[in-house]
Amino acid sequence: MTNILFAARSEKWEDYEGPLRSALDAAGLDYRLSTELPAAEVDYIVYAPNSDVQDFTPFTRLKAVLNLWAGVEGITGNETLTVPLTRMVDEDGLTQGMVEWVTGHTLRHHLGMDAHIVNPDREWDATPPPLSADRPVTILGMGALGQACAKALTALGFPVTGWSRTQKELPGVICHAGDDGLRKALTDAQIVILLLPDTPATLNLIDAETLALPARGAFLINPGRGPLIDDGALIDALDAGQIAHATLDVFRVEPLPEDHPFWSHPRVTVTPHIASTTRPGTAARVIAENIRRGEAGEPLLHLVDRDAGY
Ligand code: NDP
Repeated sequence: MTNILFAARSEKWEDYEGPLRSALDAAGLDYRLSTELPAAEVDYIVYAPNSDVQDFTPFTRLKAVLNLWAGVEGITGNETLTVPLTRMVDEDGLTQGMVEWVTGHTLRHHLGMDAHIVNPDREWDATPPPLSADRPVTILGMGALGQACAKALTALGFPVTGWSRTQKELPGVICHAGDDGLRKALTDAQIVILLLPDTPATLNLIDAETLALPARGAFLINPGRGPLIDDGALIDALDAGQIAHATLDVFRVEPLPEDHPFWSHPRVTVTPHIASTTRPGTAARVIAENIRRGEAGEPLLHLVDRDAGY
């Protein structure tokens, strides 16, 4: 019998219980699944970082913690966690949602849609937008989400450049890596999309220096994490016209405080951390597959590198 504790305060048990049971059944597992189990009997925890479980010490036979979110900055530093930690990678749910959000906001800025949606002076400006081929896009972070977005934007004709810690090779995408690669990736970009994790190495990566690299009037889209951006430097770059518009889904403090200047800035779009989300129906299959692997002695999928922080 495999004992599975669901300890994810942010996620609704009633949304997950059915999909998890179906997926665990389909995986052929003999299991007990509950929101309440004696700690010493738990084999796996289905988790979200804002869980009531913050001390893993009593979970003496724990085999792995399976995070329901892609972001793990809220758990990587937990020293009581000594077993493997996995994060959510779900092509059909989380990834698909991000591809749709990123593509939609990229096209909004590329096509200049705002000018026609809000046009109180009834201005007839018949300037057509450029074609996607003339709009270089740079994605910082070429993991599960960055690569999927790169693929979708490449399919739409955008020249896409990607940047990651380790060198990637992706059809039709110019890939850079490491500190030197960042400058190359950002220089002359017209749309910059942030899909990096929140780690000590990515903190304030988007500051006055890096904001000066894209083409003047570039667009910034951040569905990654708030601390990637130095907020003050971004406001300065917006006010100076270096950045034409910032579409921000994530913030240092969430919900974004009412008095934060992003709310009132005319060239900032705030979305409330909805770029994508874990979908129980598809995510449950990812969780069940990892538990099946764990029980079969096979390597777990989507393991977090605790030292790298993601
Ligand atoms: P991955 O771990 O698959 O990818 C992270 C990418 O960032 C990798 O390409 C990695 O490089 C790169 N990276 C990490 N650190 C550095 C660094 N110091 N320098 C250069 N590149 C670096 O994550 P996902 O794609 O699944 O998710 C990305 C982030 O998106 C999540 O961490 C989360 O914060 C955010 N997110 C936001 C959501 C929302 O609704 N707003 C929803 C889901 C996720 P390498 O490939 O070499 O390892």
